[in-house]
Amino acid sequence: MKLLLCKECQDIVRLIDVKRTCKCGKVGGKYTDDLNAIYFGEMAVPIGFANSTLVRAVHNQPKDGMGENFTAFVIPKICSTYKLVLEHEC
Ligand SMILES: [Zn+2]
Repeated sequence: MKLLLCKECQDIVRLIDVKRTCKCGKVGGKYTDDLNAIYFGEMAVPIGFANSTLVRAVHNQPKDGMGENFTAFVIPKICSTYKLVLEHEC
């Protein structure tokens, strides 16, 4: 699952197949097919969730106490499936 963190407004946006932006509008992106996505904005930080770990943590949600960790990671600046573009290209 691909997301974007905006360093300006601290919003986090989950990408879908239609362009979405953060609350301040300086960061946005969308999926271009099932795997590939594009994003824009100097303040954008591309983020990924390891889906299988999130699904497992949701299934194991406890009634109380500590929830299970899942894996989130910052995606490198150069990534073949998640590319920085100009805003008008997004
Ligand atoms: Zn923002």
